[in-house]
Amino acid sequence: MHPLGLIAASVVERENLHILLQKGVSPHDFSLRPSDIDHLQEADIIFWGGPHIEPYLSGFARRWPDKVWIDISSFSELAKIKDPHYWMSVPATLAAQKVLADTLGKDSSDFQRRVEAAVEYSDRVLEPVRERGFFVFHRAYDHWVLERGLNQVGAFTLTPEQKPGMRTVQLMREQLRAGKVACVFREPEYSPALVVTVVGDLPVKHGELDPQGAYADLSRDGYAYFLTEMADRAANCLTP
Ligand SMILES: [Zn+2]
Repeated sequence: MHPLGLIAASVVERENLHILLQKGVSPHDFSLRPSDIDHLQEADIIFWGGPHIEPYLSGFARRWPDKVWIDISSFSELAKIKDPHYWMSVPATLAAQKVLADTLGKDSSDFQRRVEAAVEYSDRVLEPVRERGFFVFHRAYDHWVLERGLNQVGAFTLTPEQKPGMRTVQLMREQLRAGKVACVFREPEYSPALVVTVVGDLPVKHGELDPQGAYADLSRDGYAYFLTEMADRAANCLTP
């Protein structure tokens, strides 16, 4: 999927990189087409999100054990929590990228430097807004929230295909009324109708975060840009 493609593009030439889930396609409601299976069969290395977020690949991982399967969720012990969006965790990402680089006989240190610089930048721009509360669209950001020390107050939905219950909506409206939330974040792949329904005319800033990083290109710098742009968007919306 695209965010893993951003990581892989650090050491894989563009012509050798095939992205199974293109930009804007969410893993939450995806199923493989026959052409995807052809691409999988042609691949030597499959860099994937693991069985929780990419269940459509689990069967193939068992069926083709001779291919190199690099599962970013297998580095979960490096993250602070268990959440299947492991590309949001910098330590898990660095470890997975290093295994990919080592497998290809490439150097991982350039990626590491770029990511460290992106983290430094993120911490600098987010520092003044660390205490400011926000709602995200779905629970995709927990690694980032914990690693950057941010104040995520809630999410409109656990996974995008689920609508929140009445009690959740009521709680969110109370938190908004109480002034605990400075910004609510939409996601580009999903209709903002849910956000509009919950927020109504309560005074709060609106921003957009994209856990897939569709705004970032598949380049050596793609993942670092994914991080810095996410920090910029969050800081912009959270700044009074
Ligand atoms: Zn998700």
